[in-house]
Amino acid sequence: MEKKRVLSGMRPTGKTHLGHLHGILENWRDLQDQYECFYFAADWHALTSEYKNTAVIKESLIEMIIDWLSVGLDPQRSTLFVQSWVKEHAELHLLLSMITPLGWLERNPTYKEQQEELTDKDIGTYGFLGYPVLQAADILMYKGNYVPVGKDQLPHLEITREIARRFNYLYREVFPPPDALLTQVPNLGGTDGRKMSKSYDNAIYLSDSQDVLTSKIEQMVTDPQRGYRKDPGDPDVCGLFPYHRIYTEPEVVGNIIKECRQAAIGCRDCKKILIQKVVEYLGPIQEKREYYLSHMGEVEEIIREGTERAREVARNTMREAREAMRL
Ligand code: SF4
Repeated sequence: MEKKRVLSGMRPTGKTHLGHLHGILENWRDLQDQYECFYFAADWHALTSEYKNTAVIKESLIEMIIDWLSVGLDPQRSTLFVQSWVKEHAELHLLLSMITPLGWLERNPTYKEQQEELTDKDIGTYGFLGYPVLQAADILMYKGNYVPVGKDQLPHLEITREIARRFNYLYREVFPPPDALLTQVPNLGGTDGRKMSKSYDNAIYLSDSQDVLTSKIEQMVTDPQRGYRKDPGDPDVCGLFPYHRIYTEPEVVGNIIKECRQAAIGCRDCKKILIQKVVEYLGPIQEKREYYLSHMGEVEEIIREGTERAREVARNTMREAREAMRL
């Protein structure tokens, strides 16, 4: 039986952090067992917010793919490629933009949210408004059956589905509307308790050395009500506790909950346990990173082969799309 196809991308706009690792990459890795996966570095998408600082895109691109490989994405099972190396994405984006009503884009909640959030960037551009159309082109190009998304990204995927249906209605059935593969995203905050983000300077990176990891975890915000060691704490409001849920064995986590509530463990000791667990967890990933960083030729070959495979599919889809539109 043919495997269903999954498609997803990630923007190369900086280093990979633990939010990416547990929220996206480990999920991508597990999906490989069940689906035919296409994963791409979305460098054209990165341009929508980084058009003034394009250097960051090039700097992060290869390292981001090295992180994917280090986490366990397998180029034998998944097609790993770079969006801008498959120029067909730009053509399909253009064709789909002709049939996408402006209202769909203006109503997109992410458009408004991001304009409010990214106050240090001028994103009142045509490219940023049309971002969901480019995303639709990326997905529909490979006739992806599923797209892994968190709940908050569902409206985005709905635009892709609408665009597919509109194309099929206007011309002929070419693009199956993809379904969402809802993923659980762990709620990992940054070291200051806010959302983990490079722009807040509060992220813990996959590439952080043991010393850096230790110092970042030592500084992490815990339960803000717990002023003194003798005060009982509450893991439910502690910024560090969700990390234990990922890295620490369940029996130990159970003890931490009990002891924290009774003030039988202090935050400093609790952090020490976490530091050890995080270092153990990231060790094998960091070893692989080192390997790929010193074998760049191998990495480039993987990306070249993946892009070739992606291009083959993209060419066939574009042929169908042009024929359907009688171009
Ligand atoms: S003991 Fe651990 S779980 Fe409790 S508040 Fe301190 S860091 Fe958080």
